[in-house]
Amino acid sequence: MTLAAPSEFSPSEKRRARVVVVGAGPAGLTVANILRAASVDCVVLETETREFIEQRPRAGFIEEWAVRALERRGLADRLLAHAQTHSECEFRYAGERHRFPYGELSGNRHFVYPQPLLVTDLVRAYADRAGGDIRFGVRDVELHGIDTDRPSVSYTDPETGERIRIDCDAIAGCDGARGVTRACLAAEEHVTVARHDYGIGWLALLAEAPPSSHCVVFGIHPRGFAAHMARSPQVTRYYLECPPGDDHENWPHERVWSELQARLSVAGAPPLTEGRLIEKRVLDMHNYVVEPMSYGRVYLAGDAAHLAAPIAAKGMNLALHGALLLGDALAAYCAEGDDSGLTGYSASCLPRVWQYQEFSQWLSELLHGTSSGDPFKAGTGGARLNRILNSPAAAGAFAELYIGK
Ligand code: FAD
Repeated sequence: MTLAAPSEFSPSEKRRARVVVVGAGPAGLTVANILRAASVDCVVLETETREFIEQRPRAGFIEEWAVRALERRGLADRLLAHAQTHSECEFRYAGERHRFPYGELSGNRHFVYPQPLLVTDLVRAYADRAGGDIRFGVRDVELHGIDTDRPSVSYTDPETGERIRIDCDAIAGCDGARGVTRACLAAEEHVTVARHDYGIGWLALLAEAPPSSHCVVFGIHPRGFAAHMARSPQVTRYYLECPPGDDHENWPHERVWSELQARLSVAGAPPLTEGRLIEKRVLDMHNYVVEPMSYGRVYLAGDAAHLAAPIAAKGMNLALHGALLLGDALAAYCAEGDDSGLTGYSASCLPRVWQYQEFSQWLSELLHGTSSGDPFKAGTGGARLNRILNSPAAAGAFAELYIGK
């Protein structure tokens, strides 16, 4: 926790809000929209520009329960009008294709809606339609007095260079994996950060090419795992397993496409439609969970609280889950003085967080066993796939975890 001397701020620069939301990703914007709808005075602080966050590509698959929760709050109109839905995926393994109809088994679907579109919708709803206070491009955000009943957040104004301090009742830490709020909590004695490193990298790619399959394709291959995921009729996300810490410069256009074609090719599947690569970055795959997710007057949501490597497309869904609970809890506290939701916030979130973490790890072992170079991991990975393809009970359990509920 950083404590600033009072003299750093002139009285005229001080502000007050009931809640300061740090970070305008899916988590922060969901919290802010819920607060605004409950007429709770809040301020959102974001280090990037509006243009940047409305274009930053990342997730694309939203689970049906999350879509319905956004719909109930009037935040899913454009999503419902434009998103495609997916209800099956395909495993390509040992030269064969295996279709997996998780929608039939679970009754739920994924909505394919790129994260920048969701962020755009949430900013519009909060700032343009509801007139919410959001400050872009802020610098050097610091939290103060988080274990007192007078916390505050300070930042440098990007235009004037002045320090501004906002006094508040609570801080929603929604600033993602590289923000300041998690670091603040992690410094506290009774907060733990549990971390798991997969020891693998994924080259995350966005191609200006239409999807080559109507569903997500998982390619389990001795050369390394590969995946295909639709984003829009013009853009497709691909992943290629690579060494952790690899340099994306090692992956020129020709190498990317020849590896994707090799790792995703099976009898009966047409070759992939190739296109210009518009994003190429290496992710060192890891997960973490901050426990508890709150300390004093700071409540973490989304990647600030827990990171799930994009193996099972869980991160944004978990971010929405926590943000929905936190928004409601903060609204009840600010509007009615009821602090039960805030007191129980971390305990309400963590069961789903750990379920999704466990599932991501389980699925990772299935997807990466064949390429691990370890015949034992290859054997057990193959056994997992055979079980979900051949046992109705195992298939049902997998479907439920894959789509969430
Ligand atoms: P973020 O989206 O990271 O938002 C945090 C915000 O805080 C950002 O706008 C950031 O600029 C801002 N910020 C940072 N520091 C500060 C600061 N100090 N002060 C103020 N603001 C700050 N998830 C899925 O569910 N499905 C998928 O298909 C999927 N695919 C993915 C693919 C890739 C390649 C990646 C990288 C991730 C994927 N994810 C997926 C994960 C998903 O993108 C994240 O879990 C999600 O963005 C988390 O939302 P958030 O609001 O918690 O954090």
